Amino acid sequence: MAGEPLVLVVEDEPAQREVLAYNIKAEGYQVVTAEAGDEALVLVRETPPDVIVLDWMLPHVSGIEVCRQLKMGVETARIPVIMLSARSEETDKIRGLETGADDYITKPYSVAELLARLRTQLRRVRPATVGERLDYDDIMIDLAEHRVYRQGEQLRLGPTEFRLLTAFMERPGRVWSREQLLDRVWGRDIYVDSRTVDVHVGRLRKALKAGAHGDPIRTVRGAGYALG
Ligand code: CA
Repeated sequence: MAGEPLVLVVEDEPAQREVLAYNIKAEGYQVVTAEAGDEALVLVRETPPDVIVLDWMLPHVSGIEVCRQLKMGVETARIPVIMLSARSEETDKIRGLETGADDYITKPYSVAELLARLRTQLRRVRPATVGERLDYDDIMIDLAEHRVYRQGEQLRLGPTEFRLLTAFMERPGRVWSREQLLDRVWGRDIYVDSRTVDVHVGRLRKALKAGAHGDPIRTVRGAGYALG
């Protein structure tokens, strides 16, 4: 599905990995899994997830090392990492957080607790997937009602333009490449010509400008599009 948050689960024990993947999918998110640290690092670079659930004890490259490398990477540093660990000592927890992990859960944990922590991280990076509304300047998206307003007036947007605007409003100022917008709005498994993005951004602009409003979308030469 396009637009659903993507969660990477890194866990070497098959049974635990499956339970996690199953429950996270049931929550309506997309899931990819890795059983080793090096595999996780490759996956993150190929298809950056929105959140990573990372086991501490992994063969070869440990979860701590994976986290450290991700947090040093320019492209990957902002991806939240929830660290899972069988260790319960306070010093380990501190060490886990010092490597840059955004949250830390001690095994055994309840799935409900993990999902709650996942939502907390998603609220930061993908607010549209957990919140009720998004605001940017004079534009407001009512996510529950699937409606868009500008200066209080409802705008008419097609479903693709709605998803595009949601992506833009989740990260104002971010420059999106056409490729990134295709992944987010159309989905990672669908082949769509990148010119299709231009067409829909054009339609979105037209809808946003209706009623003599300014154009909030910026074309960034050679890079893509940004809101604001
Ligand atoms: Ca493990």
